[in-house]
Order: sequence, then structure tokens, then C-alpha cells
Amino acid sequence: MNSREIAFELSHCFNEWGVSSCEKIHRIFRRQAVIAATNYFHSQGDLGGNLEELEQTSFPTNLNDAFRFYLQNENVASPLYGYIDHLDMNGRQPYYRKYNKDKRKYEYYLKQQFQGFEEQCDPFTRFEFQRLEKEELFFSTWMIEDDNVQSAFKGKVIETWLLCHALQHERCFNCKTQGSLRFNNYSNSPWQDMICSNKECSAMYKITTKENKIAMDKSFFLNRFICGSFQEFCKERNAENRKMFLVVLPRQGVCKEIPEMIQHLYYPVWIGEIQKGLPHVYHVTFNPNLDDLRFKTVVSITPGSETVWFDLPCPLHEVDVYGIAKTVFIKRFSQATFDFYSSEYFGDQGGDSEDDGGEKIEEKL
Ligand SMILES: [Zn+2]
Repeated sequence: MNSREIAFELSHCFNEWGVSSCEKIHRIFRRQAVIAATNYFHSQGDLGGNLEELEQTSFPTNLNDAFRFYLQNENVASPLYGYIDHLDMNGRQPYYRKYNKDKRKYEYYLKQQFQGFEEQCDPFTRFEFQRLEKEELFFSTWMIEDDNVQSAFKGKVIETWLLCHALQHERCFNCKTQGSLRFNNYSNSPWQDMICSNKECSAMYKITTKENKIAMDKSFFLNRFICGSFQEFCKERNAENRKMFLVVLPRQGVCKEIPEMIQHLYYPVWIGEIQKGLPHVYHVTFNPNLDDLRFKTVVSITPGSETVWFDLPCPLHEVDVYGIAKTVFIKRFSQATFDFYSSEYFGDQGGDSEDDGGEKIEEKL
């Protein structure tokens, strides 16, 4: 990977955002983005945590306790911002790229749902960013039941369940050592959800979920996975010559028919070695209040390295996700803070709608 690749990928991204090279303000921003991303790429390595300490860290062995532990340790980098999308399109980019074989170049097309809104697509005016307290961010991501929050929450449950299972039953994919996998709860090293504690190996694992098996297969086919912070990716990648793996599983279980048994659901867990990561522009990149430009990472894996790691069975018990989230929220902040945001978000209806939400999530599990 080199600076040219970074500039090339960013150019695609900006075209998908309708940030052209014609307008001066857009041109300047595009140039700044390439400089910022190239600086991240050359940044000094920092692993963010200490492997000896991790060896001592224990992780709960059942899903309920593990999910509680996960939320207790969840952290976010400040300052925090919420955003309003004036087009109400969940912060998505309006155009997509398509390769034209005859012309041998990429062309960009407006997505159908953006038809008629071309004028309002400029991301510099489309988004409004507002400061957000940590309490409010957690309340809105833990307690609200819209589709986005639900799928994010479902991802967290599955990820926790994967950790629960892998730490107890699976060998390190890289060195095959039994019992060497550890959960990493250092919030400043988001590319190491799991680490192998065998010092000769120290493989790092990033876990990501996809909506379903079809979406997962598509990502493998395109060899394109959009994951977390590019800045952090570069830091961790540049730190030491350790293998980085991407672990991918669907949020919807897959049905398996076993003769003479009732059909049962499981989650196929795929793995591939991370080959490279390139910067990806998302709505936060356009937040003028931040000191630095933020990007997500487009990860590609070493071709041919992808394989099934193991089949994750369905959890035996249902998880009361909203009940656990409410308890953890009150413990981390206070009952008064919980009541305050309940009335802000739910008004006179009261905040006790978590039971319904919990059931909804369990049904889909
Ligand atoms: Zn290992």
C-alpha cells in the first residue's frame, strides 16, 4: 500500500459523496484529506495495551454476564458529536461507483432514493453536528429501538457470544495453541478485539458482523469490508510485525439440517488475514468541529486466506439486552440521569419500553 493507493481510494469516496474537483472548497478539502490520511499511514506505531496484563484478564463464560461486562467496559473517544442528516438518509453517500469495461474507468451514479435531491446532497451543508455527552450517546445507542440501533445492538450481542465461545473452546487460528485467546478491553486499540497471548504468535483479531450470510458472502466476493477507525488501524498496524485477522460472522443465524434431528441455527464464523486497509470517507469526515479528519477503514484480506474458522452454535438462553443495558447505565451514571433521558426521549410514555425491545431482538436471534 502506498500514498497513490490512498489518494486513489479517497478520490472514489469523494466522487461517491458528490465532492467534485470543480468547486474550490471541495478541491481544497480533497487535498487536505489525502494529506491527513497519508500522515496516519506513516504514523508511529502504538499497540495501546500490554500483553502481560491481558494474560490475567478473565472474561465471563455465560452470555448474560458477558454482555453486562461488555457494556460496562464499552468506551468512546471524546469529544462526541451527534448529527442531523437533513436528507434523512442515515448518513449514507448519494452516489455509487461502477466500472465501465469499455471506457476502462469508474463511473458514478446517483442512488435511486436520492433522485430529485441532487441539490441538497452537498455534505458540507447536508449534515449538522452537535456536541453530545457520553451519557446521552450511551442512552441513545442502548435504549432506543429504531432499526439502526437494533442492528448495532444485535451485532454487540453476537460479538459477545463469539468471544464467550472462542475464549473457552477455540484454538488460536494462527498458532493453534489451546486456551491462548484473550479478550482485549483496551478501548484505544479497537483492532484487537481478541489477542493470542502466546508471545511467539500474538495474533490480533478484529471481529465484525454483517446483516446476514448474503451480505457476508458479498463482502468476501468484493474483498471489501468497511470497519473501524483508519487512524487507529495505522497505529496498530505500524506497531509491530504481528498478524492481523478479520473475523466475520452474520447477525442472522444460518439453518443447518441434521438427519434425524430438528434443524438448528448456527453462525458460520469466517476468518481471513488482513492484507491492507485504506481510508474510507463517511459522514463524520465532514464534521468541521473535530481537530482532525476521521476516516473508516476499507479492509481487504489476503486473497485465498479466507476460510471457515468454526461454527458458532446459537446461545442456549435468551439475553435480556435492554434490561441489562438499563442496569449497567444506572450503575455507570445514575438513576436520575436515566430518568432524565427517559423523559427526554420517551416523554410522558415513560422509559420502561425495554421489555418489548428485548423480545424483538431475541426473536431475531
Ligand atoms: Zn496464537
